[in-house]
Amino acid sequence: MSVQESFLRCTACEQESEHVVVYAGRFVSEIQCTACGAVTRLDVSEDYLPDLRQRISSKPGRLMRRLRRDPGEVAKTLPWRTLSKPLRMLDELRAVHRSRTR
Ligand SMILES: [Zn+2]
Repeated sequence: MSVQESFLRCTACEQESEHVVVYAGRFVSEIQCTACGAVTRLDVSEDYLPDLRQRISSKPGRLMRRLRRDPGEVAKTLPWRTLSKPLRMLDELRAVHRSRTR
């Protein structure tokens, strides 16, 4: 999650003011007007979760390198359910490799 500031027109107080914009991945999840404090929350779960899954499943190699370098840290931060697909893919690749070298 990251936070940026943008100059926007507030939908609550109608002023042009600094807004704190919170990102979940590539998607805006929350916008807060610094003038009146109004918070607009956007439901990003339907967009964000498939995006996260896509990003993880497209980078099994990077994940595996992180896993070897710092397994404790990775275990703490990984969304484990989304990992089952790349892990299954790796099992398949290993099976294919074994069947070829035999
Ligand atoms: Zn406002």
